Amino acid sequence: MTAKAPAHSGLALATLALLTAGPALAHSDDSGLAAIAEFFETADVVAGPDLVDCTLSGGTETTCFSITVRPDPKTYTPGPWCPTNVSDGAEAGGIWFLEGEAVDVDGAFIASLAEVYGDSNWQLFDPETGAVRYTGTLEACEAAARPDVDPAYRNYCVQCLPEYMPEDTSVTYVIPLHAVPAERPSPTNLGGAGLARNGVRLDGPAPVDAILGAYTIAPFDDCGGHVNTHVGYHYHAVTDCLSDAAAELDGAGEAAIHGGQIGIAMDGHAIFPHLLADGSAPEGLDECYGHEAEGLTYHYHAGAAGSNQILGCLAAETGCTLVEGQTTCDASGRPPRP
Ligand SMILES: [Zn+2]
Ligand SMILES: [Zn+2]
Repeated sequence: MTAKAPAHSGLALATLALLTAGPALAHSDDSGLAAIAEFFETADVVAGPDLVDCTLSGGTETTCFSITVRPDPKTYTPGPWCPTNVSDGAEAGGIWFLEGEAVDVDGAFIASLAEVYGDSNWQLFDPETGAVRYTGTLEACEAAARPDVDPAYRNYCVQCLPEYMPEDTSVTYVIPLHAVPAERPSPTNLGGAGLARNGVRLDGPAPVDAILGAYTIAPFDDCGGHVNTHVGYHYHAVTDCLSDAAAELDGAGEAAIHGGQIGIAMDGHAIFPHLLADGSAPEGLDECYGHEAEGLTYHYHAGAAGSNQILGCLAAETGCTLVEGQTTCDASGRPPRP
């Protein structure tokens, strides 16, 4: 089986690098790699980026970059998530998605859940003391966060703290160096949407219905992230945290007009903020939230912070998130060859 030639150079990073570096050379993959290393300079990088062989979701055998990162943003401390008392203000809690909006999880929000969701079974706090019931141990957060919520943790504010994770927790992302358009777009809920510039996973939608069905909420911090014990800290929303950092890092040119690149999608396309730098909405986005704009190849704009949808879908073939023990990326779903 021969590897298909990439249909076009989709990695905006490489494109951005080439805008300044001149025409593509034989060693453009190496210069692309240098641009990638620079792009992730604010991430907690354990290994890479390196060039590796990979098999993408559509079966294309090509070259990917592999980068292993700790899910720790270096520029801020994640949290808080759950307020501890219904008298707490917004600074004591994070955010939650309500009807497409990102709303503050303050004490008043916790106290109003029965009203908000029109269901008197909601009772996340002690009516006498106002104390919020929240998961306070690793065991509790795991039991409350699993798909079939332990009934003992109904009516809890669910949070896993970063310190519950082993110190050496890291995740390896294998992402195509050049995007290969897929026959049909794929959803982001299995393999995630991509990787933020700071090395934190940009995840697919949070399973909000299942969470609410168990009378729990699992807030995100003000940067749109929370912790699970599989991948650690990860994002379900792109907020000002990521946009402001990207705007600061990307000085001038098309990337800056676009608000600064906040991450790379699992298909190798660049991800920009929801809005352009001047506050206007990007035009002509497709179902995946992607488009081409002057000076930039196809790229995405993140969904609104409260939409629970960082990307609408992935337009090109995706790479892999490697879990422990996996060393190579085959995203095609085919059984490995003997
Ligand atoms: Zn999550
Ligand atoms: Zn754009």
